[in-house]
Amino acid sequence: MLQIQENVSLKNFNTFGIDVSAKYFVEIAHEDDLAELFMDPQWLHVKRLVMGGGSNMLLKKNFDGLVIRINIRGIEHRINHNEVFVEAGAGEVWNDLVNYCVDRDYAGIENLSLIPGSVGASPIQNIGAYGVELQDVFKSCRAFEIATRELRTFTKEDCRFGYRDSIFKGELKEKYIIVSVKLHLSLIPDINLKYGAIEQELANRNITNPTIKDVSRVVSHIRVSKLPDPSTIGNAGSFFKNPVISVEQFAGIQEKFPEVVHYSAADGEKLAAGWLIEQCGWKGKVVGNTGTWKNQALVLVNHGGATGEEVYSLSSQIIDTVYSKFGVLLEREVNIIG
Ligand SMILES: Cc1cc2nc3c(=O)[nH]c(=O)nc-3n(C[C@H](O)[C@H](O)[C@H](O)COP(=O)(O)OP(=O)(O)OC[C@H]3O[C@@H](n4cnc5c(N)ncnc54)[C@H](O)[C@@H]3O)c2cc1C
Repeated sequence: MLQIQENVSLKNFNTFGIDVSAKYFVEIAHEDDLAELFMDPQWLHVKRLVMGGGSNMLLKKNFDGLVIRINIRGIEHRINHNEVFVEAGAGEVWNDLVNYCVDRDYAGIENLSLIPGSVGASPIQNIGAYGVELQDVFKSCRAFEIATRELRTFTKEDCRFGYRDSIFKGELKEKYIIVSVKLHLSLIPDINLKYGAIEQELANRNITNPTIKDVSRVVSHIRVSKLPDPSTIGNAGSFFKNPVISVEQFAGIQEKFPEVVHYSAADGEKLAAGWLIEQCGWKGKVVGNTGTWKNQALVLVNHGGATGEEVYSLSSQIIDTVYSKFGVLLEREVNIIG
């Protein structure tokens, strides 16, 4: 029997640590619970918010609707020659899945070590780090369609993955709830050292022939040294996407700012949003109860007691100053709720 709770604090359910509450709150431990929940038509007509680990959202105010927290567990795998198919429940912690695979030498997601959040949210923004994106290993996911109460399987093509993007953030936004994700991994590692920082740290450790366990450890080490730990200082990782601009616009910026940090992208040039923000003097700045992280201006933090509105307002100021200086419009990566 599903338990719908009322007036539940969300403070411990979002990594920003924003102290707001949900009018209604339900925890889903099994995919069948979703069909049961939506048998009651009242939940079809209220505002809804699906939550995993709450590590990619900014809650601006009390949520006047139903929060559906996904806690569907279980990891299974199947090996076929050198291929491994791993399927995990949407409520599994992403990094537990990474450890499950790395421990067994199932290669493919070691570069995605220590990304906070749930397995179910990983396709939503096609999580990525250190040269790897979810889409590189994604096989399919199963999702519950709220309108029809039916389960549907989405292939990689169906998901229309892009940079921090998928169909679930666009056309199908809020229409489906992901219940499980299947990955296509390999027993033959293809070590990805595209990011210089990984190679550097491996060299510091005198590792010349790295295993996926080495890569996972090194990525975890780099992440811990660079990013604030949400359990001690509230944050949601990178607050903005790295903007992709046209080659022509880039040429103009590079002429004025030769040291601009950039990477080539399929559809133009990708600029390092953290660098742009830092150039506007924001790095480590404290504004009321909020601010930007001292080691990475791309991360907005809650220094304690910040409201969602405060963090949002800081993000708007950052967008304005970056636009004034560089003519580049930053887009928020974090989902703004309310
Ligand atoms: C310190 C830190 C570092 C981070 N580093 C990275 C990084 O390197 N790369 C990266 O890509 N991200 C990073 N992130 C962002 C975040 O970890 C990912 O976006 C993660 O996938 C969010 O998972 P979650 O379960 O917390 O999602 P939530 O914040 O709970 O939800 C995010 C969005 O997905 C929706 N959603 C969640 N679960 C489901 C579901 N089962 N079905 C349908 N919709 C769902 C929500 O409604 C919401 O719109 C970082 C965050 C932090 C705090």
